[in-house]
Amino acid sequence: MLRTNTCGELRITDINKTVTLCGWLQRSRDMGGVTFIDLRDRYGLTQLVFNMETHAELTEKARKLGREFVLQVTGLVKERSSKNNQLPTGDIEIIVETLTVLNESQTPPFTIEENTDGGDDLRMKYRYLDLRRTSVRANLQLRHKVAQQTRAFLDKQEFIEVETPVLIKSTPEGARDFVVPSRMNQGQFYALPQSPQTFKQLLMVSGFDRYYQIVKCFRDEDLRADRQPEFTQIDCEMSFVEQEDVLNMFEGLIKHLFLHVKGIEIESVPRITYTEAMKYYGSDKPDTRFEMKFVSLSDIYEPQTSNLVSGNGFKIFDEAELVVGICAKGCANYTRKQLDELTDFVKRPQIGATGLVYARVNPDGSVKSSVDKFYDEETLSAWAKAFGAEPNDLILIMAGQKEKTRKALSELRLEIANRLDLRDKNKFSCLWVLDFPLLEYNEEEQRYFAMHHPFTAPKPEDILLLNEGKLGEVRANAYDLVINGVEVGGGSVRIHNKQLQAKMFEILGFSSELAMAQFGFLMNAFEFGAPPHAGIAFGFDRLCSVFGGVDSIRDFIAFPKNNSGRDVMIDAPGEIDQKQLSELHIALNIQS
Ligand code: ASP
Repeated sequence: MLRTNTCGELRITDINKTVTLCGWLQRSRDMGGVTFIDLRDRYGLTQLVFNMETHAELTEKARKLGREFVLQVTGLVKERSSKNNQLPTGDIEIIVETLTVLNESQTPPFTIEENTDGGDDLRMKYRYLDLRRTSVRANLQLRHKVAQQTRAFLDKQEFIEVETPVLIKSTPEGARDFVVPSRMNQGQFYALPQSPQTFKQLLMVSGFDRYYQIVKCFRDEDLRADRQPEFTQIDCEMSFVEQEDVLNMFEGLIKHLFLHVKGIEIESVPRITYTEAMKYYGSDKPDTRFEMKFVSLSDIYEPQTSNLVSGNGFKIFDEAELVVGICAKGCANYTRKQLDELTDFVKRPQIGATGLVYARVNPDGSVKSSVDKFYDEETLSAWAKAFGAEPNDLILIMAGQKEKTRKALSELRLEIANRLDLRDKNKFSCLWVLDFPLLEYNEEEQRYFAMHHPFTAPKPEDILLLNEGKLGEVRANAYDLVINGVEVGGGSVRIHNKQLQAKMFEILGFSSELAMAQFGFLMNAFEFGAPPHAGIAFGFDRLCSVFGGVDSIRDFIAFPKNNSGRDVMIDAPGEIDQKQLSELHIALNIQS
């Protein structure tokens, strides 16, 4: 080995030892007769000292070294006269006796420091340099730890890790596939898996009983901060289980990960149904670090039986399918400007609401509202009561078509929580969302789509609804795990019966020929003793980013792609030459 110790290792107990360290030159400072260099490796920083009086030649040499030079030094560990208690090695320094430059470095295009001067694009282009920064490396170390602990837990529970193929077949359901042309099969293409879903189900037919895989998946979708074209899942499947067993097993995994990665004990993972989630939070992935549940004024007082919101001449409420709001604690003192900001926030095209009604509860308990020319004091007080609002609280109300209004209010709820600092990155709130609808109607395509995927089983008690054609009402044994408002995992109990699977494809608009052509392998397998089975997959990158308290999953991927799906470091995707194209029987026809 070229070193005896790492740069993060030496302490006061090591003084007077002769050591050899290797690392990168982080910083160097000339202080008259003495030159200091901070030497960095993955483990930390150690201060090197070169003394002009005793080692003139060596010190001259040290002074000429640039940032990021790779050095090997041998010297004596000494106690520092001025200690640095910010550094684990801050009690000692190395009096250098010999110095070898293992490699030189160009001046890096940005500083390799926490507060780097490099912008996103530059850091992506030189990702290998960005990875030298402590926080970026720490993210990948966290990722490593999550992977190791996942394996440790699942291995103990007798799960077997099996690799499934990456070159598979394109299927029309789900997101867009990445495709790979086949040289040996002219005109034919493989697809990269969006998930190993069908393979893991086949492994259940094979009797593997408990499977998992930490696996790359690919989806050719438009990108956002929390999406990458290639991402990693912790993919799992179990046989001879019901939903309850899967929830318990993976609640166990999550608790294990929190404990062993973050040192946090998660007591319980509450459960709510999809219907409740939509009603109280307007979202199927609510952030439950804080309450601020929706209160529906329409629900409490029907228009016919009360004039609480309807029949007072306020057209917007009179005509709304739903009048619903939230109570922002202690926000009654919001200024006109702050309220206008909130109104502008909900009117942004991404949210698309038409407006916002507010009611302040004054310190004396009286209520002042933006629509008080339509509502008397008594009604406004009844509003406040419905919200459980106290003096100094601000009630924010939206109205309109049910789903749209809930969705918009859900965004406002998060915005208010941000303003009130209720979304603490160091606080974690886990939640199971259960009983998702099996199917979802798509207006554009005028047909139902599977909300999770076509292999998800309807709830046995809802099969009747399926047979009656009440497709939108059928619930699935499908579940999501949500942490701090981020969907980190999802899964379902599967169909394991050929007839039911065939019916499902029929509902999704597949002819029986097409269903057989696309998924015949699975339906045939179901005729050879398929056990009841269920599973789940976690978005591994996302899980890591939640643990790290960072919004972007990119920070937890060693070599991520940018928003246009490009790897700017290796400059991919790129063109291929004519010979390769010919071998693949591909003629390009690009129109600019
Ligand atoms: N394969 C599913 C997905 O990728 C997860 C599952 O149902 O296990 O979302």
